[in-house]
Amino acid sequence: MNTRYEPVIGLEIHAQLQTRTKIFCGCSTAFGAAPNSQVCPVCLGLPGALPVLNRQAVDYAIKAALSLGCAVQRESIFARKNYFYPDLPKGYQISQYERPLALGGGLDVTAGGAARRIGLTRIHMEEDAGKSLHEGFFDSDRRTYVDYNRSGVPLIEIVSEPDMRSAAQAAEFFARLRDILVWLGVNDGNMEEGSLRCDANVSVRPYGQEAFGTKAEVKNVNSFRYLEKAIEYEIDRQIELLDGGGRVVQETRLWDSAAGRTHSMRSKEEAHDYRYFPEPDLPPLVVDEARVERVRATMPELPEARRRRFVAAYAIPDYDAGVLTQSPELADYFEAVAAAAGNPKAASNWIMGELLRTMNDRGQSMAAMPLAAPVLAGLIALIDKGTISNAIAKDVFAKMYDSGRSADDIVTAEGMAQIGDEAAVIAIIRDVMAKNGDAVAQYRAGKAQTFGFLVGQVMKGSGGKANPKLANQLLKRELENG
Ligand SMILES: [Zn+2]
Repeated sequence: MNTRYEPVIGLEIHAQLQTRTKIFCGCSTAFGAAPNSQVCPVCLGLPGALPVLNRQAVDYAIKAALSLGCAVQRESIFARKNYFYPDLPKGYQISQYERPLALGGGLDVTAGGAARRIGLTRIHMEEDAGKSLHEGFFDSDRRTYVDYNRSGVPLIEIVSEPDMRSAAQAAEFFARLRDILVWLGVNDGNMEEGSLRCDANVSVRPYGQEAFGTKAEVKNVNSFRYLEKAIEYEIDRQIELLDGGGRVVQETRLWDSAAGRTHSMRSKEEAHDYRYFPEPDLPPLVVDEARVERVRATMPELPEARRRRFVAAYAIPDYDAGVLTQSPELADYFEAVAAAAGNPKAASNWIMGELLRTMNDRGQSMAAMPLAAPVLAGLIALIDKGTISNAIAKDVFAKMYDSGRSADDIVTAEGMAQIGDEAAVIAIIRDVMAKNGDAVAQYRAGKAQTFGFLVGQVMKGSGGKANPKLANQLLKRELENG
């Protein structure tokens, strides 16, 4: 780490709102359709077509704003942001500029062992542009093709304050933000399909200096790892430049993940280059208190709050609570199993162990996971009653998972119940002792280690079903009595 320069980082995150239709028309937002199959006069920017604001998109944006502690503005204004690219058929993008939907807010992140509050500047709504296709056509050396399916897809842009001081902190902030948006159902978190994108504003300044250095904007970063690497690269590049007596120029730079470096794309436009002005075809967006409260009422408990509640209410370790609150579905499932089994720690162990492992092996999501909460609770109850051992329970689990049958049924039908009957266990022990005379003699001669071997033989002789505690006690007694 450089000891003379302090990095200063702010992020701009574009998140696609998970509405079925676009922000100003009824076209589908589904990803992966044939190019230009989800378009209409509005999202193609044809003359005379008028935008109509998607209410669901506004509600999602409000939800995101509330979850991040932002102040939702009673009135916000859509504006035209003018620039000319083939992927922007109108010649302008409808966005919010001077009066965005929400202001302020923030998020606490912990990176490198230190906690830090990262402030938010604003959240505004806007439409996405189309996609220019520079490759893959026979005449791609001469022509660029454009797919307008993405044109008009609803986005929120979340702009942070320049509060981050390391690449790791920025990556952590982005990851936490993604968790929240996905948890709320506002965004699908899919960075490969471009429904969540991040640009980073990076500058450096000598420690102790208050004024910010000149920043470069790094674009095109589509994973947490690349975000961290791109920012690290950019910090090093700027420090080297300054140390060499050069100046950082304000520009947009693209991250090239293959080369592991950023390169200059264009000098950064200033806001006045965009000639923003209020969108004449849309009225001001008015969000009254009743609407905010209606949206607030539909919000789930957020992951952080739920994690803390799990630790307090169920007395499970913080680590468990973190795993169990990876998604609302998993957290709901845990609560259902814990309640039905009356044993939260066992519920947590089974979910974090066998269940997640099995789901992972089969590539299943929670939605596709076949094991109902009461069925898993039934298995835990059988262990707690001493009907089956933990080892046998794993076999029962595998059978339950595929069949949906109850643990009770499986244990009864397949004779898997633990042998807790003393006479039956003693019979097995005597048989094992008769067959392993040498080991018995060694134990009696003082070689205590052979005890473990003999217990193993007893368990094996019972098909794994002897109550292990009972087997231990009785074996010891039989060996000492001999
Ligand atoms: Zn359309």
